[in-house]
Amino acid sequence: MSLPEDEQRRALSYPGGEDGDVPAYVTCELDPHLYGEHVAHLRHLVPTEGVPDELWLVWGGAAGMGLRRLPACEQTGPSADVSCWLPVRHRGGHVWERYE
Ligand SMILES: [Zn+2]
Ligand SMILES: [Zn+2]
Repeated sequence: MSLPEDEQRRALSYPGGEDGDVPAYVTCELDPHLYGEHVAHLRHLVPTEGVPDELWLVWGGAAGMGLRRLPACEQTGPSADVSCWLPVRHRGGHVWERYE
């Protein structure tokens, strides 16, 4: 789906955003699921100690659509150079499990 203009504006003016744009089109990055929140990565934020540094668009849940600052999962895959970049405690498989 297209990233709604309001969310695009909020994401671009989000405190701590690194230079760069946000995607014009977003799609849920989790394994397919029928209910619950969908998430799409919007941008990387300047790391601040103890504060998650990834900005996500979240929609489909009780809270409606909005931006959420969540750390990445960072589970390490079968080889040490592969780590999961989905939001922490995400549902479904880690990214590398899709390609096994
Ligand atoms: Zn989803
Ligand atoms: Zn993961």
